[in-house]
Amino acid sequence: MPLYVEVTIGRLPTPFHYRLPTSIDSASLTLGDCLLVPFRSGIKTAYFVRLIDETEVETDIKKIKDVLSISHTPFPLPPTLIKLLKWIAEYYLAPIGSVMEAGFPSFIKERWEKKSSKKQTPKIALVDTEKILSSVPLNADQKKAYTEISTAIENGGFSPFLLHGVTGSGKTEVYLQVIEKTLAQHKGAIVLVPEIGLTPQLVARFRSRFGDKIAVLHSQLTPKERYDEWLKIHENKAVIAIGARSGLFAPMSNVGVIIVDEEHDASYKQEDYNRYNARDAAIVYAKLLGATVVLGSATPSFESFYNGRIGKYKVLTLPHRVEERAMPKITMIDLRERATWITPFLTQRLLTAVEERLARHEQIILFINRRGHTHSFMCGDCGQKWQCKNCSVSLTFHKRKKKLLCHYCGFQQRAPEDCVHCKGTRLLSMGIGTEQVEEEMSALFPLARILRMDRDTTVKKGAHHQIVSAMSAKTADILIGTQMVAKGHDFHCVTLVGIVCADFSLNFPDFRSSERTFQLLAQVAGRTGRGEQKGEVLIQTFQPEHALFQVIPKYEPFYDTELTYRKDAHYPPFTKLILLILSHTKEEQVEKEAEQLADILKKISTKISNGIEVLGPAPAPITRLRNAYRYQILIKGANQSLLKSVLEQALNTFHAQHKKTSQRGVRLTIDVDPQNLI
Ligand SMILES: [Zn+2]
Ligand SMILES: [Zn+2]
Repeated sequence: MPLYVEVTIGRLPTPFHYRLPTSIDSASLTLGDCLLVPFRSGIKTAYFVRLIDETEVETDIKKIKDVLSISHTPFPLPPTLIKLLKWIAEYYLAPIGSVMEAGFPSFIKERWEKKSSKKQTPKIALVDTEKILSSVPLNADQKKAYTEISTAIENGGFSPFLLHGVTGSGKTEVYLQVIEKTLAQHKGAIVLVPEIGLTPQLVARFRSRFGDKIAVLHSQLTPKERYDEWLKIHENKAVIAIGARSGLFAPMSNVGVIIVDEEHDASYKQEDYNRYNARDAAIVYAKLLGATVVLGSATPSFESFYNGRIGKYKVLTLPHRVEERAMPKITMIDLRERATWITPFLTQRLLTAVEERLARHEQIILFINRRGHTHSFMCGDCGQKWQCKNCSVSLTFHKRKKKLLCHYCGFQQRAPEDCVHCKGTRLLSMGIGTEQVEEEMSALFPLARILRMDRDTTVKKGAHHQIVSAMSAKTADILIGTQMVAKGHDFHCVTLVGIVCADFSLNFPDFRSSERTFQLLAQVAGRTGRGEQKGEVLIQTFQPEHALFQVIPKYEPFYDTELTYRKDAHYPPFTKLILLILSHTKEEQVEKEAEQLADILKKISTKISNGIEVLGPAPAPITRLRNAYRYQILIKGANQSLLKSVLEQALNTFHAQHKKTSQRGVRLTIDVDPQNLI
């Protein structure tokens, strides 16, 4: 009897079937093994999923092709890394093919698909620790943290730490010394940072300490550069890998420590094809490796802080800034008092503070979490609004480009001069964005050197770096920007941070909106007072009485209040969530199928009756996105594996019902531990 295999190829969502030749031992195959298969007109690497029998083969049996061979990659991944990739596929219900691709990036895989090279990898090049520059001394809190972590590294075994240090408390120095310790043990280190392109200062600091022992992996490198960096790690020439979330898959053979900097950052969650969370995967990886893992943040995620409270992670605290620098003073400004507005959203109090800093040649950061000029456009005569033609969101006015843009799908149109509806010319633009703040500030302070940092001004390669350098070199006075300005920059002459409007992210329809706002504001606030002068933060808001503003930047009181709400409302960290998003260009189609799936889910979970809640279907907060209508179903429950088994049963039933009609293509996205409910 011939045997057949189910495989997945790359990011393609559907599995493929092939016949297994007798030359391959079927018993030796395990999930994720690489097989070379004929595919379309070429040869592709496929990843083994399972053995199947003839009745399950969906391809015409006469046309089915044979697996060519087991793919012996010239660049074998460390076995524990393969275990991690398999865990990700299983935990996040992601196709094994697309997860394995994360381990074998295309720039590596293409090389052996084209021509299987015979290249052998040389063995460990030992690190010469003598050559590493010696460090600045640690203060008492840093020393305590360092000692605990380095003892764990020395002892070996899985040890998770949460390093909770206020902004400016010197977490990076602790990381650097921990890594020195790791290298001295002849082990390597993986360092994850949220968005590597946005943290050039941190990378520079690592480079100045460790030189070419470092390989940096990120998406802005050319394929050739990425290949070189990847190979440096694979060949043990680099023993420190720094990267954004996919840096976790660095092919390092002897990992001693994994550091996840700014562990609360939402960008650790990948939001497309493999919806994994690199922070959570880092914990699992350390467990598989028997290694130390350090999650660092001034504003830890609720999940991590909770794990610290219940003793799952060991918490190390850095409650003070280095060199006894004071935390910035924070003051609220009530935006409801319109009389104090000099121009839209800029109050007398804020502008006076700016003026004082300019007179003293100190620097200022103004934060506004929206790019563009104004975020909605309306006809003052008939009320006509300008919305994206593909998404249910309003278009943002970009004055300099004279365009209206959709920030979700990229749709753009010329900014209108009159209303298409009534031909009226009284067009109103509302809200505020970075571009408008820049325009107002330039008019108010014509002599000040003003820079703007957002996605519009940092498109060009090197642009972001130029802005950061200008701030460091003090050739700029005022930096205006989106959350990009919050990302770990260390500017010593910034003595004022102004939050132009704190309310935007607070009003998001997501249970994490308070947590996110707190983190964002505390991080931006932390950019001031990092030098000799004391810093000040002015937060402008329409709701100064909000609980969050009473405690910021003190984390624990905020956490305690918010935790009660999470517990009552059955949200993480008390409850596990799986979000299902169904999308299709026809609304009635997606609504119907979402209802069918929710019904099946509800029936199965009632049968089990074990505290599983199925919410929905409901239109997603952004109901229409890139021309597709979106409906969502949220499954909640205390037991993750039970949730998944309910989902798997439901999907089997659902797919069986839809087998004949599956070509209509309602797309289903499964998001395990979702970070965004929009
Ligand atoms: Zn009109
Ligand atoms: Zn759009």
